[in-house]
Amino acid sequence: MIPALNTFRSRAAMTGRALRAGNTFASQKRFLSLHEYLSMDLLNKYGVNTPKSIPAKTPEEAFEAAKKFGGKPVVIKAQVLAGGRGKGHFDNGLKGGVHLVKTPEEVRDLAKQMIGAKLITKQTGAAGRECNAVMIAEARPPKKEYYVALLNDRVKQLPAMIASSEGGTSIEEVAAENPDAIITTTIDLEKGLDAQTAQQIAHKLGFSGPEQEKQAADIFQKLYKLFDERDATQVEINPLAESQDGEVLCMDAKLGFDDNADFRQIDVFKQRDLTQEDPIEVEAGKYGLNFIKLDGNIGCLVNGAGLAMATLDVLSLNGGQPANFLDVGGGANAAAVKKAFELLLQSKDVRAIFVNIFGGIMRCDVIADGIVQATKELDLKIPLVVRLQGTKEQEAKKIIKDSGLKIAAFDDLDQAAAKAVEVAK
Ligand code: GDP
Ligand code: MN
Repeated sequence: MIPALNTFRSRAAMTGRALRAGNTFASQKRFLSLHEYLSMDLLNKYGVNTPKSIPAKTPEEAFEAAKKFGGKPVVIKAQVLAGGRGKGHFDNGLKGGVHLVKTPEEVRDLAKQMIGAKLITKQTGAAGRECNAVMIAEARPPKKEYYVALLNDRVKQLPAMIASSEGGTSIEEVAAENPDAIITTTIDLEKGLDAQTAQQIAHKLGFSGPEQEKQAADIFQKLYKLFDERDATQVEINPLAESQDGEVLCMDAKLGFDDNADFRQIDVFKQRDLTQEDPIEVEAGKYGLNFIKLDGNIGCLVNGAGLAMATLDVLSLNGGQPANFLDVGGGANAAAVKKAFELLLQSKDVRAIFVNIFGGIMRCDVIADGIVQATKELDLKIPLVVRLQGTKEQEAKKIIKDSGLKIAAFDDLDQAAAKAVEVAK
């Protein structure tokens, strides 16, 4: 079984990646991320050692949770789906999404400031992410912080384990400035991560004694088991810490899961937190549409990743930039096309809509029906440029012509793109 590798990414995911690779940046995520407190539960199910923790959704719950640690110091951690929380800040001025605290009263006070505020980190962008919960964990002062992650090496087409003895909040700098401090181990799919390999990695990291080395190796194997069995695309533990009392613990976890495996990872996927995702993407997903935000002014409706790329290129060649892409894929009906229009128009930047469909499985007449419906019902005010080719093209053209609506229809992609750029100016 090769769960995480054997899955083919959806065509839209490829569009997203390709667009990113083309530096046109779309902050597109096609993987499910789990909150830290849920990740901790999953790690514990696999027998992985973590500090004891309790989630809380209100300051009062946080206060009660803190009391359960019997007066010992605790850590309060903002639960947002982004890394870099420790060094982040809230939109209300509070510094740091992770605090070491001594009393339940202090916990309540910090929870008041965190819950409902937005945490801004290196990974969230300026808008930040809403913090709707905190996690209270027993403080296990680290003696040393390590880094360990599992992911898929796309070039080798195998899972890989990345580990470093220089873990903590500056791991990105370590990777950039001191790549030798990063140990990469490719994992054999048949054998998985065997005890000997795990032990060798732990040894290289240099724990304080053979007992800690053994604990770390055991954690590595369990992490790989989780990665393999749960269709994870990422298991990142930073820090993996050796506590001052000599225990090896996972103190933070960023877990990602392959969206294409949602049907067989039901208990993982039901923990999705939509408040942490882009609302337009969430809405698009409900209709089987894929939405990608860019920063030009032409709203694009296309079918398929390849055509999205071609559309991006041809608009750029004509001096224009897409505001977004809505990929209707192969199975959309007229209602989904109408929804697609609604979503395209939600962006204030959209000055023109460009429909570029190459009919194959997706029939042009279905698209044309959707376009006409949407134009009428949404009282479309901005120019609409349409290029439809392929299956049921003639029928589609007739539908558009008979509608009497002002729609600029083209056969030629280049002419259509030039028109879209012109009317968007
Ligand atoms: P991130 O900044 O989003 O990666 O958040 P982390 O959970 O990694 O927290 C940042 C830093 O806070 C870590 O590098 C640790 O030094 C510290 N920290 C996190 N969790 C704990 C914990 O349970 N106990 C203690 N003592 N420190 C922690
Ligand atoms: Mn971390």
